[in-house]
Amino acid sequence: MTNPDPHPVELQKVDETSLKIIWSDGVSTGITWKALREKCPCAACREESNKPLDPFRVLKPAELLPLKPVRFTPTGNYAYKVDWSDGHASGIYSIKYLREICTQP
Ligand SMILES: [Zn+2]
Repeated sequence: MTNPDPHPVELQKVDETSLKIIWSDGVSTGITWKALREKCPCAACREESNKPLDPFRVLKPAELLPLKPVRFTPTGNYAYKVDWSDGHASGIYSIKYLREICTQP
């Protein structure tokens, strides 16, 4: 390990539910869309995940639809912005963060 900050060299859609990232240090990791969305780093999602679930809440598209990303946009050299099929697009996933949350082989 000479490079302390591996970067993605390839993003691949594995199937309808998950993403695979091949990293510059040769490691490949995966994550499901569901997990990716649950880890959305934007302020709104973080606030949402800290609240207890209200049984009388209105179910949002995010809870009803088979969510998937519709676009990954590189942001600078350090992050990806992910646009989701329900229109949510405020999550900026830093490369460091992606490496942390993509834990499946
Ligand atoms: Zn979000």
